[in-house]
Amino acid sequence: MNPNTIKLVNNNLEKKYNSIIVTLKKNGFKITKKDFPLPVVSYDLKGKVAGKAYGLRNLIKLNKDLISNPNYLKEMSEDTLYHELVHLFIHFLYKTQQLRTYSKLGEGCFGRPKPHGIEWKTLMVLIDEKPSVTHNFEVLSGRKMTRITYLCDCREHEMTKRAHHKILDGSLYKCRKCKEFLKLKPGAYFRRV
Ligand SMILES: [Zn+2]
Ligand SMILES: [Zn+2]
Repeated sequence: MNPNTIKLVNNNLEKKYNSIIVTLKKNGFKITKKDFPLPVVSYDLKGKVAGKAYGLRNLIKLNKDLISNPNYLKEMSEDTLYHELVHLFIHFLYKTQQLRTYSKLGEGCFGRPKPHGIEWKTLMVLIDEKPSVTHNFEVLSGRKMTRITYLCDCREHEMTKRAHHKILDGSLYKCRKCKEFLKLKPGAYFRRV
């Protein structure tokens, strides 16, 4: 991995980590850097997943091919990284039983939080990140593939799985407005988990 990329990721990680701890403390949670150390990042994720968080190991894995691609560097070293970092924070809060009763991250959340549930979304909003699960990398949300983003010259088109497969099989779709053929949006085929 490029040393500059590693440096960028680690800088972004530490900055966001510090600011999330401040935000959580402000909202009444008990968290110290000792209880929740700075997570480790590795770059060995392959396939169609952009990033993945491992709560028990306090580890974030990023997709090697995507982060090595200059087109995706910003999105990977910021959006994907923070997405996964917030999963680790939610895991910590759950583990320390700080989500059991009313909390600022959602009223009366009991049991294990859902991966992109109210707690994750609320914390994303608190730290000024978009809690989107249907954009860019995330169009393929788990097994439930919903819409896939295509582009023409004038706008984005959210295509159905069926249309997507027809395009992969060689069908051509045109935008009615600008008359351009639709192309798969770069990165749209990957997801964060
Ligand atoms: Zn168009
Ligand atoms: Zn996720």
